[in-house]
Amino acid sequence: MTDPHPFIAGLPKAELHVHHVGSASPRIVAELAAHHPDSRVPTDPEALADYFTFTDFAHFIEVYLSVVDLIRTPEDVRLLTFEVARDMARQNIRYAELTVTPYSSTHRGIPEVAFMEAIEDARKAAEAELGVVLRWCFDIPGEAGLQAAEETARLAVERRPDGLVSFGLGGPEIGVERPQFKPYFDRAIAEGLHSVPHAGETTGPQTIWDALTVLRAERIGHGTSSVRDPRLLEHLAEHRIALEVCPTSNIATRAVTDIELHPIREMVAAGVLVTVNSDDPPMFGTDLNNEYAVAARLLELDERGIAELAKNAVEASFLDPAGKRKLAEEIDTYTTNWLRTPGR
Ligand SMILES: [Zn+2]
Repeated sequence: MTDPHPFIAGLPKAELHVHHVGSASPRIVAELAAHHPDSRVPTDPEALADYFTFTDFAHFIEVYLSVVDLIRTPEDVRLLTFEVARDMARQNIRYAELTVTPYSSTHRGIPEVAFMEAIEDARKAAEAELGVVLRWCFDIPGEAGLQAAEETARLAVERRPDGLVSFGLGGPEIGVERPQFKPYFDRAIAEGLHSVPHAGETTGPQTIWDALTVLRAERIGHGTSSVRDPRLLEHLAEHRIALEVCPTSNIATRAVTDIELHPIREMVAAGVLVTVNSDDPPMFGTDLNNEYAVAARLLELDERGIAELAKNAVEASFLDPAGKRKLAEEIDTYTTNWLRTPGR
């Protein structure tokens, strides 16, 4: 297969690991910055493009936090969410589980009810106007400690929006042990939420075992270091526990030193259900289509192989069975039509 991009661009896709604030593209940031002229974020697109060119990981964190600082009102939350869905629609993403960190907004003073209304309002508009189905994963910002965990669990349970399907844990892994979050995951799981913590991105396989056995993870965010433990790979494959792989993000954060050495090949070879995702796409200079192209190259996939990768995400999603069937059929129909078209 020569250039996979045109096929990937039109392919209906689901995305399972993508962060709300981390999806703010320069276009969206410019719009938010225009509402808050006192912020230090540039508003004109060219200066913004420079601003988004990261020099190192510390710079990424600085930019990320400056975008967090632009989200000050429920209207900002609504705008960000709907515009993220617009960027998804352009890539033919039909379904996304968006990781939202409500704690970042509520502890900065956005009233919790208004926050929930803003994301729900955007979710309904995205589905009606853009054909993008959004669901939420509320995640604990691990670096903010147990008080943030308590607050996130409380918001998930007491202020649960209709679109909420899962409960996660992000932020740094080193020095932030997974087991301490057990009571909060227990509480969310008791309410019927799915467990999807980040694990094994910057730490070893034990963190993934902790996520599985203590936090009862149903999917693993990243799981990069799983390939260092054959027994773990076997366990993931046997129980169909999907990994949410984000290749470009792993390079940007130096979880993987060289894209050519990305462990996605070993994961697939071990029979693990691998899904491809974009994490914080504009901040890592990527989008989901590009991540599929990267994965297709590393795994040497043709169109059918790429379509299978897209169907892995549908299988590993928390869509209802009818929704899964419909999206998988859309992927099959698109692929069959593509391959039937003469001249390709
Ligand atoms: Zn992530």
